Amino acid sequence: MTNKDRRFPLSLSSVVDKQARNAPADPTRRVATPQTATRNAALNPAQSRPVPAAPMQVERRANPSPQRVAPLVSDSVRKAMVARLVKQGISDTRVLAAMEAVQRHLFIEPGLVAQAYVDASIPIGYHQTISQPYIVARMIEVMRNGGTLTRVLEIGTGCGYQAAVLSLVAKEVYSIERIRPLHELARSNLRPMRIANIRLHYGDGMLGLSQVAPFDGIILAAAGLEVPQALLDQLAVGGRLVAPVGARHQVLQLIERVGKFEWTHTTLEDCHFVPLRAGTV
Ligand code: SAH
Repeated sequence: MTNKDRRFPLSLSSVVDKQARNAPADPTRRVATPQTATRNAALNPAQSRPVPAAPMQVERRANPSPQRVAPLVSDSVRKAMVARLVKQGISDTRVLAAMEAVQRHLFIEPGLVAQAYVDASIPIGYHQTISQPYIVARMIEVMRNGGTLTRVLEIGTGCGYQAAVLSLVAKEVYSIERIRPLHELARSNLRPMRIANIRLHYGDGMLGLSQVAPFDGIILAAAGLEVPQALLDQLAVGGRLVAPVGARHQVLQLIERVGKFEWTHTTLEDCHFVPLRAGTV
């Protein structure tokens, strides 16, 4: 196993918020919750309430500073975000549970944390943005289509947020980023979450990852004028690819591979993404 193909040991339960990571060591912060139980609870909204999961750690901090953002990043704010997603038409309960479980604020730089659960894209540096919660949920819901996802590929890791959400709905998640500092950012954001089933790659996602293809789901988090043929080829027959396509006017497209040499295209809705670019920087 190389550095670029690295496993994160299980689970979302040991998430530590960014402020805490920078704060003086506090042995009580890394609360030992039953990891698999928390992860399973994250997948099942009915079980999620009684589990003393990681988000509560924010509230448990001693001597809170005046700028504490607890009300903005608490469980209830994330629940409200999910309620909004339902109103916006997201209905896949597994996707909704994943959106509720992943602490979006931990992927956002401290100065912008107040916006973490607003339905907006947020800058992550290098002229890139983390997509708005609605579009993250929508793309995953369309890709999943109520089925089982074994191996999925994300093009455009960015800060790693969508990869974390995907890790709760798919067995294996591969994610490629072309901007090295963002690849490193995602790595450092995800490391404390100890998610076992995400592999991050630094490279040009337009080429896909032929060594692990085929994928039964592929998501592009950046818009090209068309979807690269390499990605269509790496989609399993029966697999679903969701991508923004276009330049100034972009639409979300669903591409299904219906045969060895046959793909169908469905246009879903307008969207706005950063551009898909070739090569690495
Ligand atoms: N899913 C991300 C969204 C990141 S924005 C998140 O949750 O944060 C889109 C990302 O796609 C950017 O980081 C950009 O650098 C990346 N990107 C654009 N073209 C790419 C390519 N050819 N290969 C890999 N990543 C690419």
